[in-house]
Amino acid sequence: MANDIHSNKNKLAIEGGTPIRKELLPYGKQFVEQKDIDAVIKVLESDWLTTGPTVMEFEKQFAEQVGAAHGVAVNSGTAGLHCAVYAAGIKSGDEVITSPMTFMATANCIRYQGAKVVFADVEPDTLNIDPEKIKKCITPKTKAIIAVDFTGHPANLEAIGEIAKNNNLAFIEDAAHALGTTYKGQKVGSIADMTTFSLHPVKHITTGEGGLVVTDDSNLAERLRRFRNHGITRDHHQRQEQGIWSYDMEEIGYNYRLTELNSVLGISQLQKLPILLERRKEIAARYNDAFSKISQLTPPTAHLDCESAWHLYVVKLNLENLNKNRDEIFQALRAENIGVNVHYIPVPWLAYYQKLGYKRGAWPIAESNYYRLLSLPMWPGMTDDDVEDVILAVEKVLSAYQK
Ligand SMILES: *Cc1c(COP(=O)(O)O)cnc(C)c1O
Repeated sequence: MANDIHSNKNKLAIEGGTPIRKELLPYGKQFVEQKDIDAVIKVLESDWLTTGPTVMEFEKQFAEQVGAAHGVAVNSGTAGLHCAVYAAGIKSGDEVITSPMTFMATANCIRYQGAKVVFADVEPDTLNIDPEKIKKCITPKTKAIIAVDFTGHPANLEAIGEIAKNNNLAFIEDAAHALGTTYKGQKVGSIADMTTFSLHPVKHITTGEGGLVVTDDSNLAERLRRFRNHGITRDHHQRQEQGIWSYDMEEIGYNYRLTELNSVLGISQLQKLPILLERRKEIAARYNDAFSKISQLTPPTAHLDCESAWHLYVVKLNLENLNKNRDEIFQALRAENIGVNVHYIPVPWLAYYQKLGYKRGAWPIAESNYYRLLSLPMWPGMTDDDVEDVILAVEKVLSAYQK
């Protein structure tokens, strides 16, 4: 739009040209409406602020939405992962296999329980953990696998579930990107032993901060609930209902409880999930169409037997066709006011993991792709003009830097 009125529209903003947009378009953003705000205010005026009837209602609706029997709400996706690792019985001396191409929390939750993180390399197309690489990482100490649905595209859940079953391992799915994803017709949330979700503002729906673990197993659900409430074996509601005051704590837990305020926002947000998912799909389709014509990048892979929830739209730069690297292209797009991002620095490269002795080079697919990855803005409140601005900016920068 704005660029039509300027004569220097082809000159890159980073070189002094006019940016495609006047203000930065973020890579992700929450979608909060007046209805959400009203719902939160109503709870503030009620008797319950922390874990009460709204939390339970939210858990029920969320679990139903993703096709699971039980939902346990917690105050972050990270807390959900920690609860899941605890519920799976992971402790010091155990090993848990996960992906290097994820947010650090997926690996950190294993460390919280004192166990060893074993990173298995990813598949070159989806950048999801590779079942063949998982098999090579299994030892007598392995107790669980945490798969991640990177960007919202499901991991190879059937193969991973099979490996878990054959080796008697817990199968945890970090579905922080995948609320609304389906895999071979099944909903993510109804497949792994435990599936965790995040309700951070950049995710599909938000509660400010928050998360959920869903499972079909009532014993696991019980362990999850206990862990989120200090490890107490009788919670406030059970105490009230049973009219008794006594409580005990057999194993240590945390205060990972979600509040009523967060939960009512969650219920309100959940109602618009179908619309939010639909908009993400539309944006992805428009991007796919535009970017399939550009030789300097590869649009994301989408397997035919799955439906991605499109949390992120991550392209791979074809560096052999470009005379600038990813970081320079990132800077040039930021100068155009397009809020690009990078997901993710391989987790074993982070200083904490380096200090633990993880050596670069052990995950060649994740590590070589990292240099090519660029996340483009993707959130349901983007207008059609916003989407076109991103496409224009990508075309502008990549054609200027074409080899
Ligand atoms: C967002 C995210 C988390 C953590 O969620 P929080 O709610 O921010 O704690 C974990 N794993 C992945 C893959 C994520 O993207």
